[in-house]
Amino acid sequence: MSDRTVREPERIVTAHRQTEGGGFIVRRPLPTRGLEHADPFLLLDEMGPVDYAPGEAVGAPDHPHRGFETVTYMLEGEFEHEDSAGHRGVIRAGDVQWMTAGAGIVHSEMPAAHIRRDGGRVHGFQLWVNLPARLKMTRPRYQEVPAAAIPEATSADGRARVRVIAGQALGVSAAIDTLTPIVYQDWTLQEGADVRLPLPEDHAVLVYVFQGSVALGDSGTAVRDGQAALLGQGAAMRLRGLPGGGRLLLLAGVPLREPVARYGPFVMNTVDELAQALADHRSGRLGEITRTAVVGRLGGAP
Ligand code: FE
Repeated sequence: MSDRTVREPERIVTAHRQTEGGGFIVRRPLPTRGLEHADPFLLLDEMGPVDYAPGEAVGAPDHPHRGFETVTYMLEGEFEHEDSAGHRGVIRAGDVQWMTAGAGIVHSEMPAAHIRRDGGRVHGFQLWVNLPARLKMTRPRYQEVPAAAIPEATSADGRARVRVIAGQALGVSAAIDTLTPIVYQDWTLQEGADVRLPLPEDHAVLVYVFQGSVALGDSGTAVRDGQAALLGQGAAMRLRGLPGGGRLLLLAGVPLREPVARYGPFVMNTVDELAQALADHRSGRLGEITRTAVVGRLGGAP
């Protein structure tokens, strides 16, 4: 492979801080000023790391989604999830939940009851992956992958480590099945790490550094904590570790190149489809969460 095929950073932006859900602060590299779109990705939020005091932790109570997928990846702490289809679960440190909202779902995403009550640390990510028109009204689906089932690999020199949530790297393949071709990887690079990774040329590639700093491309362009880089064309990418090391999310996918009509938790192709989503939600067609059992489980008053 010629050096000319290595992707170089085309645009580097700094994540802004934003209040989400019930009032929790996120770092948001996408969308942000200078990076409004990264088709097929719609949004990337880093929750925390934050140390909540007792009674302080907030999440995102009941809200709907239609037309795309939400991917939750926890690094520390626990999130409880429940939805209008009766699905309920806990996403623990290192776990991934890949939720295809498709035709629609109402769900809540909250720090675990013990964190809300006693306080604790929360750190994680939520990524929104757009769905093509032909899949926007697909049946909702969950893939929940516990930390132990997420393949990990280390480079021959031991300086680069990767958790492969989607796609392939260093000879390992993800456990998750994606509806469209998606790469989602968590890379930890020590100083001196130097990894060349083939990536299909038709993929758009986004890198978000959330710890330390890394060098990208043959140019060795430094990207620091809280910065995202959109890479240019090429058949491969190059990641190098800088003094102090760094950690990043690598996201790649084939752009859908379809019109995007977006309103809050709904992402469709046309304004009419958005109006339909709102109408369906208002008339209860996306469902609601039944909570009788939950009150008992959390020990709250009836
Ligand atoms: Fe949500």
